[in-house]
Amino acid sequence: MPEHRTRPACVACGEEIRTVRVGLPSNLPFAGPLTYAVPEGLELAPGDWVEAPLGKRAMVGVVWDDAAEADAVDPAKLKSVAARLNAPRMHEPLRRVVDWVAAYTLSPHGAVLRMAVHLPAISQPEAVRVAFRAVADPPQDGVRMTAARMRVLAAAAEPQSAQALADMAETSAAVVRGMADAGLLARVAVAPELPPSPDLSRPGPALSEAQNAAAALLTSAVEARRFQVDVLDGVTGSGKTEVYFEAVAAALRAGGQVLVLLPEIALTAQWLDRFQQRFGVYPTAWHSEVSPPQRRRNWRWVAEGAARIVVGARSALFLPFRDLRLIVVDEEHDQAFKQEDGVRYHARDIAIVRAQTEGVPICLASATPSLETVANVERGRFRRLTLPQRHGGAALPTVEICDLVETPPPRGQWIAPPLADAVSQALAEGEQALLFLNRRGYAPLTLCRTCGHRFACPSCSAWLVEHRYTGRLQCHHCGHQERVPAECPTCNATDSLAACGPGVERIAEEVAGRWPEARVAVMSSDLLSGPAAVRELIESIGRHEVDLIVGTQLIAKGHHFPMLTVVGVVDADLGLAGGDLRASERTFQLLTQVSGRAGRAERPGRVLLQTVEPQQPVLQALVAGDRDAFYQAEQAARQDAGMPPYGRLAAVIVSASDLGAAMEFGQQLAATAPYSQDIRVLGPAPAPLALVRGRHRVRLLLHAKRSVNVPAALRAWLAGAKPTGSVRMAVDVDPYSFL
Ligand code: ADP
Ligand code: ZN
Repeated sequence: MPEHRTRPACVACGEEIRTVRVGLPSNLPFAGPLTYAVPEGLELAPGDWVEAPLGKRAMVGVVWDDAAEADAVDPAKLKSVAARLNAPRMHEPLRRVVDWVAAYTLSPHGAVLRMAVHLPAISQPEAVRVAFRAVADPPQDGVRMTAARMRVLAAAAEPQSAQALADMAETSAAVVRGMADAGLLARVAVAPELPPSPDLSRPGPALSEAQNAAAALLTSAVEARRFQVDVLDGVTGSGKTEVYFEAVAAALRAGGQVLVLLPEIALTAQWLDRFQQRFGVYPTAWHSEVSPPQRRRNWRWVAEGAARIVVGARSALFLPFRDLRLIVVDEEHDQAFKQEDGVRYHARDIAIVRAQTEGVPICLASATPSLETVANVERGRFRRLTLPQRHGGAALPTVEICDLVETPPPRGQWIAPPLADAVSQALAEGEQALLFLNRRGYAPLTLCRTCGHRFACPSCSAWLVEHRYTGRLQCHHCGHQERVPAECPTCNATDSLAACGPGVERIAEEVAGRWPEARVAVMSSDLLSGPAAVRELIESIGRHEVDLIVGTQLIAKGHHFPMLTVVGVVDADLGLAGGDLRASERTFQLLTQVSGRAGRAERPGRVLLQTVEPQQPVLQALVAGDRDAFYQAEQAARQDAGMPPYGRLAAVIVSASDLGAAMEFGQQLAATAPYSQDIRVLGPAPAPLALVRGRHRVRLLLHAKRSVNVPAALRAWLAGAKPTGSVRMAVDVDPYSFL
């Protein structure tokens, strides 16, 4: 930065012009906040919300920092901030997090800022709510009293909203307002609604010694108000939630705010209930299913500090907390934390950056921490708190292999005899069983028995998945749908279509045939219409209104069902096929999670893994209950290959409407790629999912030593790369998906 910064001056009078840089939430690819002049008499501080022109549009933006550098602006072209808006300032730490994410992910600054801005909350302040109450001495003359008006008056002793009064009096809200205009009712302003305060006087459960020790360390980090990463590493059912609730209580007691991130919206419903049981009120939720008016209110509440505890999906990370004291990332290993489009970021990593910027502790909870987190524990950067036992002396379930080659299921079925026996036994004992298959729909492939025609998506390189409940074939990548036809589109044969392989719907069909008496529930995201439906189903399973659950990963995580004793993994090999970098890790984590649903209370649990490859190390580690052996083997393999977390990766994905153009641009990139002892660039190669939504995709992969500053290397490399025509380029730093 230059030593002497001359400020821009007005060409006409030579007077100095005050300027600010304003961050604009926008997908336009300009590099960062833009410089604007500050009009006479307008006082602006960093973090203020303003209206500023961009081209012909009036935009809402944030004052990013003080004056811009003088040489960056031509005073003649300088536009002015139009106005300051009445919304709580965006605090410095959040602005720094936005800067950090933009730089790290190579995303446009405005695209990241968009995630931190909820325009409705900023531009439309909460409407003052009005209630109506009967007046003491109503006017006598000239006022017509109808029967409806009499009923309203009778109901209006206490202030009520127009609609509530109308409902009670069986009339319309217009009648109520008309009565207020006639002087029969008084309008009273209602104080703005606020979220209820958690009851901190309630005692938590009596903690075990190990739980207590972990809770004490978490709590003291909260009280010390310093950045600290604690990994709460406890087996499934060990009480991780109860333990971090103690730290949550400490943060709330200190008057601060808490953010809890969960990987999936579906999990928030049960979490809300648990919080309610512990603290007497529901927390503030933040995710895409919250209604727009409630979102607007929640955003304001967070910004004003009224929302004390927020639970949400990854987008909650960018909420404008006023006094954040603690972040919890539950199921920190979960890949749902990685955002795969737009700004590609990993919410756990950004949560750590946010905690550091805010100077507060963060707790990462998991029964199967990611290898990244384990490596950071070993490097001494994170502290590990362990809960080695299940709460209340419940034993971990036994895990057995069910060899599909030795004991295959009957033809056309998927449940082999050992698993069928275990389920029958559980049902006979009045217990519950869960059959897990991480595949939505009825069958992953449909073909014609006569001519071999396979149903594929017209715009993706993917098979269409049959969904029998809806009678449709669906592409799981682009959402394309078509009816299951009566005849083959190629050879016109009728009754010739065959479903290949199972999805949960097909397992449910088999289950209904085998155990006709059992009450069966299918738990799959496409069969349940949102979090409320998921919650209802979870509750009915908890009340034992269901005997047999067939589910995808939606059921695998976090839930606690005391009567569930048998878990059958229908296809334990599924996640290992394809074999990307994290296939083993992910399978180990998922199967540990789903196994962890069994035997969480008094009754011991049993897990059966159906496989054609019983010697597979992941499955062997699960059977032996030897997590450490699995982690050590996996770490050694990654270390040898220099793969994350011992090396770094970044992907560049090029797409175009024709393959030649994508390839050509990919080759141009490869020709200018950095190459040294520490960096290699592989590709371009057609992506495994080579066609998505009609666009052809090729990938380049940058592989670097851990010491390399990958974003800087990418910036240097890609600065001159300008895709033209239909070509697009996307950058994914620390990729998790290799499709
Ligand atoms: P995790 O998140 O580690 O899988 P949870 O926090 O869900 O475990 O705890 C499992 C079950 O045990 C829950 O029903 C929880 O309420 C209960 N639990 C855990 N610790 C205690 C405790 N100290 N006292 C009473 N109940 C506990
Ligand atoms: Zn498709």
